[in-house]
Amino acid sequence: MSALSSVTVIGGGAVGLATAYYLRKADLDVTVIESGRPGRSTSWGNGGWLSPVLSIPTPGPGMPRMGIVESFQRDSAVAVRPHAAPSMIPWLLRFARHCTRSAFESGSARLGALSREMFDGFDELDDLGVPVEVPRQGNLRACLTEAEARHQLAGLAPMRAAGYAVPDRIMYAEEIHELEPELSDDVRSGFNLPEERHVDPGAFCDTLAEYLVEQGVRLLADTRVTGVRASGGRVTAVETTVGQVRTDALVVAAGLDTRLIAGWLGARLPIRGGKGYSFFVPSEYSPSHPLYLSHTKVGVTPLKGGYRVLGGMELADETLRINPRMIRGMIRVARRYLRHMPATESLAELPDLWAGLRPMTPDGLPVIDRLPDLSNAYVNSGHGMLGVGLCMVSGAALTDFMVNGRRPDVLAPFGATRF
Ligand SMILES: Cc1cc2nc3c(=O)[nH]c(=O)nc-3n(C[C@H](O)[C@H](O)[C@H](O)COP(=O)(O)OP(=O)(O)OC[C@H]3O[C@@H](n4cnc5c(N)ncnc54)[C@H](O)[C@@H]3O)c2cc1C
Repeated sequence: MSALSSVTVIGGGAVGLATAYYLRKADLDVTVIESGRPGRSTSWGNGGWLSPVLSIPTPGPGMPRMGIVESFQRDSAVAVRPHAAPSMIPWLLRFARHCTRSAFESGSARLGALSREMFDGFDELDDLGVPVEVPRQGNLRACLTEAEARHQLAGLAPMRAAGYAVPDRIMYAEEIHELEPELSDDVRSGFNLPEERHVDPGAFCDTLAEYLVEQGVRLLADTRVTGVRASGGRVTAVETTVGQVRTDALVVAAGLDTRLIAGWLGARLPIRGGKGYSFFVPSEYSPSHPLYLSHTKVGVTPLKGGYRVLGGMELADETLRINPRMIRGMIRVARRYLRHMPATESLAELPDLWAGLRPMTPDGLPVIDRLPDLSNAYVNSGHGMLGVGLCMVSGAALTDFMVNGRRPDVLAPFGATRF
């Protein structure tokens, strides 16, 4: 039985809202404090892919070389600019140490175990009648050559071996164009991951936030947490811009700001921002599948009235400043792969041009744990490229830990003291 009665969640992004959902389901008195509007930070303009097969750590073999080489390439989606933020250098060195085959394989296995039940929470919301739309067209990898498609498919062999739906052969040009007529003639091959799903992430957060309020969650929007009070090894209250909120327990799910807030509580969590971009293309010629444009690391997500183009991984300053070179590269790539992608004269024309900072850890795994030295303060953050897909499973597992007092085995790799 839980000794908890009230819980405060800092952060109303996908991860904070999903955590609040499970805490409320466990019959707790839940307050979510969000400095802006819920779901309007990194959880807004992302791809919304719910992708168990692609639940792999960001640091991978070859990443350091790729980051440095691609930083100088014209259409690059990856850029490492330590000179833009010298304070990031120690973090980048730790990240580089995880770019080995063995770290990648063990990280993939750990994330794979967490993401195995990825869809359950979304299905549960659907069963409850919460109008979260989760299309199921899969996720289509579009490649310019058959050799590239074979190479990409070979990289997913471990996921097939782990039981995920990964096809055992590539598609040829005619087949892939029949499946997705919006791909250009330059696309000659690819494959579909049939069981992957996606959401419109902003709409998902709006719907979930609305449901939480209906269920009695207190949602304090436009309210910033400015400090945390603790005594006797326990958090007792949070200070906010509208006054103090007393609480039995705390969950920090503040995206990139988790580093700062955990620091107030004496925990050093190396969470840094990996900047990515997106823009919307209003179009009657939207692809019907989410698309991963081969090795370019640019993605496309169909949304109402058009599609979102997303990409970029900039490890540099942690601002939301838009780098026009990255956006131009994304446009060039999308025009090459998509039949009807319009030309764009100026970036100012792009609807919903957006930058977001993925909360990244150097080993590419989230932190889902109790904070050290405090018996009632928890963290759920650092999901990097996977926070929307993993939000429900992470929220469920952390709630299980908080309510039952025993850390579920699946959370063992995601400790707060591992760094
Ligand atoms: C280009 C791009 C594409 C991506 N595509 C995908 C994808 O397809 N699938 C996927 O799963 N993930 C994707 N991601 C990653 C995903 O967006 C993130 O992992 C996820 O949004 C993180 O959610 P979060 O709730 O942890 O953080 P956030 O969404 O940043 O939420 C944290 C919240 O905390 C609030 N906050 C911070 N400090 C305070 C404070 N002091 N007081 C009160 N509130 C505070 C913030 O305002 C914010 O709303 C992508 C990211 C990018 C950039």
